[in-house]
Amino acid sequence: MTDWHSTSTEDALQKLSSHTNGLDQDEADKRLVEYGPNKLTPAKRRSAIELFLSQFNNVLIHVLIGAVIVTALLQHWLDSAVITGVIIINALIGFIQEGKAESALEAIRSLLSPQASVWRSGKNITIPAEQLVPGDIVVLQSGDRVPADLRVLRQHNLRIDESILTGESESIEKNIMPVEEDTVLADRTCMAYSGTLVTYGTGTGMVITTGDSTEIGRISTLLSTVEHLSTPLVRQMAVFARWLTVVILIIAAATFLFGVLIRNYSMTEMFLAAVGLAVAAIPEGLPAIMTITLAIGVQRMVKRNAIIRRLPAVETLGSVTVICSDKTGTLTKNEMTVKHLVSATQLFDISGVGYSPHGGITLDGNSIEPLDNETLMTLGRAAILCNDANLDGIDEEWKIHGDPTEAALIVLARKIGLDPDWERKQFPRMDVIPFEAEHRFMATLHHDHLSHAFIYIKGAPEQILKMCRYEKNNSGTQEIDKEFWHKKIIQIAESGERPLAVAYRPMLQGMSELNFNDVKDELILLGLFGITDPPREEAISAIQRCQKAGIRVMMITGDHASTAQAISQQLGIVNSKVVTGAEIDEMDQDQFVDAVLKTDVFARSNPEHKLRLVEALQEHNHVIAMTGDGVNDAPALKRADIGIAMGMKGTEAAKEASEMVLTDDNFASIINAVEEGRTVYDNLQKSILYILPTSVGEAAMIIAAVLMGYLLPITPVQILWVNMVTTVTLALSLSFEPAEKDVMSRPPRSPSAPLLNRFLVWRIIYVFSIMLAGSFGLFLVMIQGGHDIELARTVTVNTLVMFEVFYLWNIRYLYTSVFSIEGIFGNRFIIIAIILVILLQLGFTYIPFMQLLFKTTALDMNTWLLIIATSSSVLFLVELEKWLLRKTGLNVQNPS
Ligand code: ATP
Repeated sequence: MTDWHSTSTEDALQKLSSHTNGLDQDEADKRLVEYGPNKLTPAKRRSAIELFLSQFNNVLIHVLIGAVIVTALLQHWLDSAVITGVIIINALIGFIQEGKAESALEAIRSLLSPQASVWRSGKNITIPAEQLVPGDIVVLQSGDRVPADLRVLRQHNLRIDESILTGESESIEKNIMPVEEDTVLADRTCMAYSGTLVTYGTGTGMVITTGDSTEIGRISTLLSTVEHLSTPLVRQMAVFARWLTVVILIIAAATFLFGVLIRNYSMTEMFLAAVGLAVAAIPEGLPAIMTITLAIGVQRMVKRNAIIRRLPAVETLGSVTVICSDKTGTLTKNEMTVKHLVSATQLFDISGVGYSPHGGITLDGNSIEPLDNETLMTLGRAAILCNDANLDGIDEEWKIHGDPTEAALIVLARKIGLDPDWERKQFPRMDVIPFEAEHRFMATLHHDHLSHAFIYIKGAPEQILKMCRYEKNNSGTQEIDKEFWHKKIIQIAESGERPLAVAYRPMLQGMSELNFNDVKDELILLGLFGITDPPREEAISAIQRCQKAGIRVMMITGDHASTAQAISQQLGIVNSKVVTGAEIDEMDQDQFVDAVLKTDVFARSNPEHKLRLVEALQEHNHVIAMTGDGVNDAPALKRADIGIAMGMKGTEAAKEASEMVLTDDNFASIINAVEEGRTVYDNLQKSILYILPTSVGEAAMIIAAVLMGYLLPITPVQILWVNMVTTVTLALSLSFEPAEKDVMSRPPRSPSAPLLNRFLVWRIIYVFSIMLAGSFGLFLVMIQGGHDIELARTVTVNTLVMFEVFYLWNIRYLYTSVFSIEGIFGNRFIIIAIILVILLQLGFTYIPFMQLLFKTTALDMNTWLLIIATSSSVLFLVELEKWLLRKTGLNVQNPS
């Protein structure tokens, strides 16, 4: 083992036979076979056996196991066998469904696997971090997670947060000097460890170890975080179910005592009745259905480009009242094109679209030959040199690498006729101050072959203007006329283009390092670029959808105030008055809160402003979804109710702080996710509203029978049958229910709204009363008509199941009428489930083996007609209730 931290950079490179240009691809491939992929052994998932056994860890199953033991003691072998069968089937179903849901979520998470920027065969490329091998040269930027253990070779203000390894929350400054051999991990400043976070600056490092051999790989405890399939609603429901079980057991015991002591039933019969009651009333299918609904929702979101990182977010999405979005790339296309160029004396118009470097340049409306114009040449050279982007063109397909703003400048330089490779060779770069949203500029230090040194700098014009003392005009350099430039900046910005200024400064010969002090004044302004970035069409319609759905859209951008205003108007943001970051800094807290509540567009704002904004909105009970991409956005993303990171241009730091990641960086995907979130919540609520009335209805029937001194209208095993078949067919089909039509025209759900509001409780009571009256009524009709108990019970069971079939249609739309083609046939899973359930009921009624098992008998046509007539009443009665509610205008969707 080598002590890499006490090895010099040259020796380190030599030891791993590497080079600052990176490994050859062939060598990297060989090493990948030798060392294996750079990934940590994943946290152990529950084994199949553990998952299966966990299905028995639930109160209902305990009640059922108790029932098996007692029925066996009573020598009711058939009952024991059927109940045992039910327990096993239940466990199997849970096992398969949960296993599937867990795998689906894992697959979704793997979509987020990190990438690494690496030098291979002399080229800087991006590869999956898993493919890194010892000897690879990795480039680090602020916001990156260090992808393997690295020996730092070069760095510029590189600072790394190593709290995950050392617990030290302050970021550590890195350098390249080796340290003493016995230095502790936290002080090894020339090393960058896998899993730690680059908070500032840039650097290059050589991979020394990968995968489980890294420092983080050795700390196995960090790896065992497995997220459970749960959300607040599901947990609330689990608590509710536990309480319900206790209440039900008490009622069952009371019924038992009442039957034995007052009605003189036999102990055996009453025991079976009590078991039946418990089994009936406990909504055993509900937790599984809720988990599946969640998993399906999360998968639907992935299809619509939103990856959920934390499951509770699925529910929170439905309550979002404000979406705070970045502008560039989220609301706009991030396809930058330079349209105008302004120098001290001239204004150039640039034609051409996208990243194709073909286009003409006109000066005062006249075409010109760019290479003859010295101003253009100077601006073009600056655009190439102070730039990290690249442009590739194969068969006129133009692809950019790097930041789109910078790529636009390369395209411009090519239109001028300059060759970026040649310029870079003529004026090699010595040092760089990378662009950070914090200081809003980028500066580079170059020299020519005569060792003349000079700085190029580009950035937000107000910023650059502050640093300039001179401007360049046709005849040379003169004192800057700031007023002229401010006017030009506003002109560019008001047309919706983003203004960018570029300046330079000659330096002393031989200078090799660039510091902030070198650019703070004395710069010579060269000119301004006006860059377009059109709004996304889908963002415009998404904003309209937000407005309909009662969600406020706020745009928070680092761009110029006038650009932000022009773009917000094009996007249709209603209140396009703009407040800038500088104005916020001048405000006291009250003024700030007032501005936050009244303003929708914030410009030239930085990540701290975002955080303050979220906090102020939350204090006013808003539920906030906030987008971000940089490392400094992490605190605001964490604080927001739903932090949303950009999958394409976002940093690892932002992704990890977020609840959700957009794979297409598109604003429209946020509102799609909100729609899915609302739908999932609706579907969770629908499954509760579906399962509870049946459970309560069955239990009530038993209690009624005992109170009135009748034989049980339905036996425990029959109840188990009903619950089983209806849960895995009918109730499950609700998980696939598509969004209701009005889902995006209602206001957001209040996060404090109770799980079962008054309306839902009413609906449960209403439906269970209909079911009870119908099923128990028919049972009594049969008994009093002189039919035997088997037939009466067969009728009761079939009536109950048919009630559920008809009620399934009602439940599709909670408040609106289901009488339409879409309402009846709109969810094919419901149709399939109904066909299945009818087949199962026919089997239950007519197959001799089933008749033996469940003590059922065949029914004739008239009886079936009676059953259907009775059970279909629920469909009409619930639709009548909905109609009355609509007529009376009761606002049941948002009851207080
Ligand atoms: P948003 O916050 O909506 O994504 P943005 O991309 O405009 O907007 P920043 O990335 O913070 O916000 O950029 C702020 C300003 O910094 C830009 O308006 C521009 O003037 C300047 N700028 C952006 N990119 C660069 C760059 N690569 N080099 C120099 N200056 C830049």
